[in-house]
Amino acid sequence: DPIIEVKNLTMRFSSKRSETVALDDVSLSVAAGEFVTIAGPSGCGKSTLLKIIAGLTLATDGDVRLYGQQVTSPQRQIGFAFQRSALLEWRGVRKNILLQAEMRGMDRRRAEQRADELIELTGLTGFEKALPHELSGGMQQRVALCRALLHEPRVLLMDEPFGALDALTREHMNIEMNRIWRETGTTIVLVTHSVPEAVYLGSRIVVMSPRPGRIVETLTPGLPEERD
Ligand code: ADP
Ligand code: ADP
Repeated sequence: DPIIEVKNLTMRFSSKRSETVALDDVSLSVAAGEFVTIAGPSGCGKSTLLKIIAGLTLATDGDVRLYGQQVTSPQRQIGFAFQRSALLEWRGVRKNILLQAEMRGMDRRRAEQRADELIELTGLTGFEKALPHELSGGMQQRVALCRALLHEPRVLLMDEPFGALDALTREHMNIEMNRIWRETGTTIVLVTHSVPEAVYLGSRIVVMSPRPGRIVETLTPGLPEERD
C-alpha cells in the first residue's frame, strides 16, 4: 500500500493581473522505503508539491493522503529539511538537533540517545558542541538532517537540501544521503533541479515541467526500457 497518495492535485496562484498554474492534475504514489526524487526546472511546482504533501499549504483542488488519512495540516510522521535549514547560531550541534525534541515534546532521554545515534551516523562525532558558524556548509546540512530525523519520522521530505553547497560537498552529501536511506529505511521524497542528483539518489525519478506544472515522466533506474 502507498504511504503517500497524491491524486489530481491542482494549485493555482491568482493575483489581479495574472494566474499561475503551479500544479496541473498531478498524481503520485509513494510506497514504504522508496526514495523518490522529483526533478525539473525552476518554477515547475516542485516546492509547491512538497509543501502540499507536508500539509504546510492547501491545494486548490485534489487530494493528499498519508497512510490513508487526508492531509490538511502538518503531520507528526513527517520530517523536513530545506535548502536553508535555519540552525540556531547560539546553540551547538547537539542542542540544535534536540530542538526538534523540545518542539515535539519528546521524552528527553530517548531524544538524547537518538541524537547521539544520528550524530554518529552522519559523521558529526566530536562536533557536538560546535556552533553552526564553526562548521562547513555540508556539516551544517548534516545537522539539519539529524534534526529532521530525530523524532523518527516515517517520511522525510527534502527541498533542494544541498542546493546551497559547492559541487564537491554536494557529491559528498549525496553519497551520505544514499547511505542514510539504506541504513534507516526512511521513505524519502527529495526535490532537486539537478537531474544527475535525482538519478543518483532516486529509486524512482519523477520529472516535472513548468507552465503549467506537470509530471511528464517517471523513471526507475536500473530497469531496461519497455519496448513495443
Ligand atoms: P519550483 O520549486 O519547481 O521552482 P515552485 O513550486 O516554487 O516551483 O513554483 C511553481 C510556480 O508557482 C512558479 O511559477 C511560482 O512563481 C509560483 N508560486 C509558487 N509559490 C507562489 C506563491 N506563494 N504565490 C504566487 N505564486 C507562487
Ligand atoms: P562536508 O563535505 O560535509 O562539507 P568538508 O569537506 O567541509 O565536509 O569537511 C570534511 C571534514 O573536515 C569534516 O567531516 C570535518 O571532520 C572536517 N572539518 C570541516 N570543517 C571543519 C571545521 N570548521 N572545523 C573542524 N573540522 C572541520
